[in-house]
Amino acid sequence: MHVNPNFARLPGSYLFAEIARRVKEYAAKNPNADLIKLGIGYVTLPLAPAVVAAMKTAADEMLAPETFRGYGPDYGYDFLIDAIRAHDYQARGVSIAQDEVFVSDGAKSDTSAIQELFSQDARIAVTDPVYPVYVDSNAIAGRLGDFVGGRWNRLVYLPCNAENGFVPAPPAEPVDVIYLCYPNNPTGTTLTVEQLKPFVEYARKNGAVIIYDAAYKAFITSDVPHSIYEVEGAREVAVECCSFSKTAGFTGTRCAYTVIPHEVTGLDAQGRRVELNALWKRRMGTKFNGVSYPIQRAAAAVFSPEGQAQCGEAVRYYLRNARLIRDELTAAGYTVFGGVDAPYVWLKTPVESWAFFDTLLDRAHVVGTPGTGFGPSGEGYFRLTAFNTYEKTAEALTRIQAL
Ligand code: PLP
Repeated sequence: MHVNPNFARLPGSYLFAEIARRVKEYAAKNPNADLIKLGIGYVTLPLAPAVVAAMKTAADEMLAPETFRGYGPDYGYDFLIDAIRAHDYQARGVSIAQDEVFVSDGAKSDTSAIQELFSQDARIAVTDPVYPVYVDSNAIAGRLGDFVGGRWNRLVYLPCNAENGFVPAPPAEPVDVIYLCYPNNPTGTTLTVEQLKPFVEYARKNGAVIIYDAAYKAFITSDVPHSIYEVEGAREVAVECCSFSKTAGFTGTRCAYTVIPHEVTGLDAQGRRVELNALWKRRMGTKFNGVSYPIQRAAAAVFSPEGQAQCGEAVRYYLRNARLIRDELTAAGYTVFGGVDAPYVWLKTPVESWAFFDTLLDRAHVVGTPGTGFGPSGEGYFRLTAFNTYEKTAEALTRIQAL
């Protein structure tokens, strides 16, 4: 047996492993240093009471033969799918059919697996910097060539930086798939309907597909779309991945969903149009047996009036931290981006991003994430997250200001 050779092509040290290594080494040498972590990309507040109540009620149902549930529908229970359609789409003027929503255990699972629907030679484009999952999943599948000098030689990078105002241009060359994530991880920036339009037009003109990751849509406060389907024509070319992880603290609970309108198609070997919805159904039927019943009940409770109020409160807590990071860094003379519609603030570093990481760790005892770990255009930038407590976040900023 030979193993998949593409694993050996992946760059050696994963970003967060390298951060953990440096932090561990520093902490061992400086045991009294009170480190504040503004590097983590996951929520810290507990689940909403309405969510846990629904989970408990559903767990109790599993005790009685009349209400026990075994295998559920492959693509999710109707009660959850209908709540998603009503709250996340109909309420925004977007019509999504029942069989266009697929409930899953995570947007990471879905955004990494969706590439199984593409041909082996499909050309892939990503915004740069980028959430690494889209890149690595295609690299493992063997579509990206080799990693040379910090870049995959068969991947199209769409730079997002201060120079273009973090508004990427659509690919200048033919590609088959474009991954977009808005509000963006890591930059925390967003795109308006007008700024998304060229991507939809590109995809329609070139027969490409957009994979739109809306994992952070709950953080939107500005007038920007919550869904790619708010852009005219997107139903023909876009798949949308959403998650309860950041919306409602489900990082450990696990529930998400992907929307694939019937109009989204690709060509088969004979040049005939095939619905991606049908292929994803086939894939899910083979590789997935659904999210557990109590968790789907918990997810549906996110849409209840109490759930909306409680989850909204947590999101506002993180956004308050983000605003504090933005304001204090700006006052300290840094140029910052994001943090208005996202739990991430992206700042320009006065030195290379790993050097800035080391300085911050050594002199402020604050841990962040070097931008270069998210792609070549991340060099010269740094990510701070809003997921720590307000008090720790404020303390971290006082220390950064004192530098
Ligand atoms: N998409 C983006 C852009 C993310 O940043 C993350 C998590 O950090 C995910 C997806 C993962 O979501 P989930 O917890 O639903 O797998």
